[in-house]
Amino acid sequence: MKYQVLAGTLSKIEATSKRKEMTNYLVELFKAITPDHIRDVIGLIRGSPYPDYEDFQYGMAEKMVIKSIANATGLTTDQITEKMKEKGDLGKAAEEELATKKQTTLFTKPLDVKYVSETLDKIGRTSGKGSVDVKIKLLAGLLTNATPLEARYIIRTILGQMRLGMADMTIMDALAIAYTDNATNRPIIERAFNISSDLGLIAEKLVKEGIESVKDFKVTIRHPIRMMMAQRSGETEEIFEKLKGTFIAEFKYDGERLQIHKDGETILLFSRRLEEISEQYPDVCEMVRTQINAKKTIIEGEVVAYNIETGELRPFQELMHRRRKYGIKEAMKAIPVNLFLFDLLYLEDKDFTNKNYPLRRKALEKIVTETEQLRLAVQKEIITEDELEEFFELAVEKGCEGIMAKSIQDSIYQAGARGWLWIKYKRDYKSEIADTLDLVVIGAYMGYGARTGYYGSLLMACYDPIENQFKSVCRMGSGFTDEHLETLQKLLKPYQVSDKPPRVLINDSIITTVDAWFKPAIVLEVQAAELTLSPVHTCALDKIRKGSGLAMRFPRFTGRIRDDKTAEQATSQQEIIDLFKGQLKKIE
Ligand code: ATP
Repeated sequence: MKYQVLAGTLSKIEATSKRKEMTNYLVELFKAITPDHIRDVIGLIRGSPYPDYEDFQYGMAEKMVIKSIANATGLTTDQITEKMKEKGDLGKAAEEELATKKQTTLFTKPLDVKYVSETLDKIGRTSGKGSVDVKIKLLAGLLTNATPLEARYIIRTILGQMRLGMADMTIMDALAIAYTDNATNRPIIERAFNISSDLGLIAEKLVKEGIESVKDFKVTIRHPIRMMMAQRSGETEEIFEKLKGTFIAEFKYDGERLQIHKDGETILLFSRRLEEISEQYPDVCEMVRTQINAKKTIIEGEVVAYNIETGELRPFQELMHRRRKYGIKEAMKAIPVNLFLFDLLYLEDKDFTNKNYPLRRKALEKIVTETEQLRLAVQKEIITEDELEEFFELAVEKGCEGIMAKSIQDSIYQAGARGWLWIKYKRDYKSEIADTLDLVVIGAYMGYGARTGYYGSLLMACYDPIENQFKSVCRMGSGFTDEHLETLQKLLKPYQVSDKPPRVLINDSIITTVDAWFKPAIVLEVQAAELTLSPVHTCALDKIRKGSGLAMRFPRFTGRIRDDKTAEQATSQQEIIDLFKGQLKKIE
C-alpha cells in the first residue's frame, strides 16, 4: 500500500472536527488495505510503530529534522527555519518547500507504508555514537522520495506533532465498521484494547482471524491493562445507595498508582498513564521480587513516600521527587517508599479481571508476604454510616486522602472505565466544592506587574470523551508561586502552537483574547469554590440550560501538576455536570 493513500486520508481527517466524518475516512482507508499492512497503518495513524506503553522515541530534535529537510531539498537550514517560523509548523514548511524547490531526481520511487514504518522504526532504534548523522540520513532518504503531503506527515510523526484530533475510540469505531460491517461490535474491540493497550495487535487479529478472536482476547503479562477508575461522592447516603447497602472501604493512599507485572524475575511497573517506570523504583521492584510469591502475576497498588524515622506517610508532592531519570540511588535514600497493594488482575495464566473483588483480594492476600514496607491496603467491611465515618477519620489520621468504597457485588475489574463500583470519598469534599478537579491547560494570558514576562493566568479545560474535545471551564490566575510560574512556563513551551488546536472548543468571544495556545497536554489540579452557569465557557454547553455552559468560580492552582495523567485522563465534562447537580442538591 502506498503511503500517499494514508497521507491523503490524514489530511482529510485533519481538515474536519466531526467525528463521524473522521470515522468514514478511516473506514474507506481500512477497506483498501491488505491484512499485512494493518499494523503499520495503525502505528502510522497513532504516531508510533509501538503501543504507547513501549517507551519508543524517534530521538530527533527539531534541528536534526531541519538538517534532513535541507539534505533532501538542497535548501539551507536557515531558509527552512525561516519558513518554519512563517508557517508555525515544520511539517507544513517542508511540504511547501518540497512542492516548490524539490530537486527532481529521476530516481524517486513512491513510498510504501511498510517501508515508511520500517524506516521510522530504524530511526528510533539507532542510538549511540554517530547516531545523529544516521538518523538525519535516514529521514532525508524518506523525504527525498516523499511527495509534499507525505513530507508533512512524516515530519509531524517524527516530531510527535500529528495534531489529528482523533481519539482511539474513533479508530475502534472505524475498525468495527470496516471489518465487521457493524458499529455495535466496537465494545468488543474496546474491551480487548482495555486489557492489552495494543490497538495494532488487536486490529491485526481482527483482520486476520475475525471478531470472534477479538472476543477471546486474553490478559497478557507485560501488556498493561488500562486502569479502573473511581467515581467521586461527597454524600455517604449516595455511597450506600450505589453500593447496595454494604461494601468494602479501603484507605485511599496519597501516592502514585502502579500496575505491577511480575514475570519470573522480571518486574515491570506501569504508571497511571501506562508508561513503564520500573527504573524509577528499583526498591519497589526488589520488594515485589522477594515478597510476592507468584511466578506470573499482575497486581496493583499505591506507592507512597514515608518518613523513615516516624513511619508516617508523606504527601504525594514529596513522592514527585522520585520522578527522575538520574540520581535514583540518592532519591531512593532521601525519599523511601511504602507499597500498599489493593488488587490482583492476573495470576499464573488466569485472568482475574472478570472475578468479583473479594475473590481478587483473597488471591492477592495469598501471594503477599507483608512487611513494614510492603503491605495490603487497610480495609474494612462497612454496614453502617457510623462505621464509615469512623473508618474515614482513621484513614485521614493515618495520612491518607480519604477512603475508597468498593463494591462487593458484581464487582469485576472494569478496565479503562470510571464506574460506580469504586467510589472515592475524600477529605477535600468537606471543604469548598466537592473535590479538586484535574484540568488541562489550553491557553494563557500574559501577566502584568510582578508577573510580566510570565503567564498571568491560564485557560483551563475539561475533556469530553464523546465529542473528543477539550472544553473551557475557567480562567485560573491564583494559587501560583513564582516557582510555579517558572516551572509552568518551561513545561508548557513545547506544547505551544500558533492557533487554537482543533480539539479545543471555546466561545468565539474569547478566542482573540488568548495570548498563547497549547496543545492539550499539561494537566493541573484545581480547587474552586463552586460551579456556576456561564455564558462564556463551553463545558456542558446546552446540557443544563440552553446557551449556557458551566464555569468554576474562584479557581485556584493547588500546586500539584498531574503529570501522571494524560490530557484525556483529565476530569470529564460528565463529572463536572455531576458535581454541579450534587451542588444543587445540597442547596435544596
Ligand atoms: P484522584 O485525583 O482522586 O487521585 P484520579 O483521578 O487520579 O484520582 P481515580 O481513579 O479517580 O484517579 O482515583 C483513584 C486513585 O486513587 C487511584 O488511581 C489510585 O492511584 C489511588 N488509590 C489510593 N488508594 C487506593 C485504593 N485502596 N484502591 C484504589 N485506588 C487507590
